[in-house]
Amino acid sequence: MGQQVAEAVKAGADYIHVDVMDGHFVPNISIGIPVVASLRKITKIPLDVHLMIEKPELYISQFIDAGADILTVHVEASTHLHSTINSIKEQGIKAGVSLKPATPLSSIDEVLSMVDLVLIMTVNPGFGGQEFIENTLDKIVRLRRIIYNRKINAELEVDGGITVETAPRVVKAGADVLVAGSAIFNTKLGIGAALRNIRKALN
Ligand code: ZN
Repeated sequence: MGQQVAEAVKAGADYIHVDVMDGHFVPNISIGIPVVASLRKITKIPLDVHLMIEKPELYISQFIDAGADILTVHVEASTHLHSTINSIKEQGIKAGVSLKPATPLSSIDEVLSMVDLVLIMTVNPGFGGQEFIENTLDKIVRLRRIIYNRKINAELEVDGGITVETAPRVVKAGADVLVAGSAIFNTKLGIGAALRNIRKALN
């Protein structure tokens, strides 16, 4: 993993996005706090940690101690979202909020001015390599408009099914940050070439 991350950083990745899954909020188990701590030792670029876990508020301090620079929680997973976001920010790192494809933008209305990042899921979270869900494009357009109209200072990040084909379309819809997993780490091209190809597709 260290070698692959180094390759992605060398090829110009801005963040390393870490998908944490707990087998409850999503039907899969991935990686956790010790892996974040290991990644912290090998790279200085921001670790963008996406918590696809229930009760994320219980683990905030541990992920921050492990070296997370951005902690994103799901609106569907945190009963006291306002206090969860506050707690992340009070501990000195950036806070993000994420929505699954079926969750309406109105669910984050009241916290939008607090967050540094909004993560729109363009697949149902839980597994890599899924196909982009087309009607999430309109959600990105609408969120971009809200961010603009309300002068919100948050990045709009998109996660799921990002490829050379979908990347230009989500950027056109209003995304600032793209998360790519399989399209970079699971191709015959190699990590560097795959990442550069996505950037090239955006020009
Ligand atoms: Zn993610």
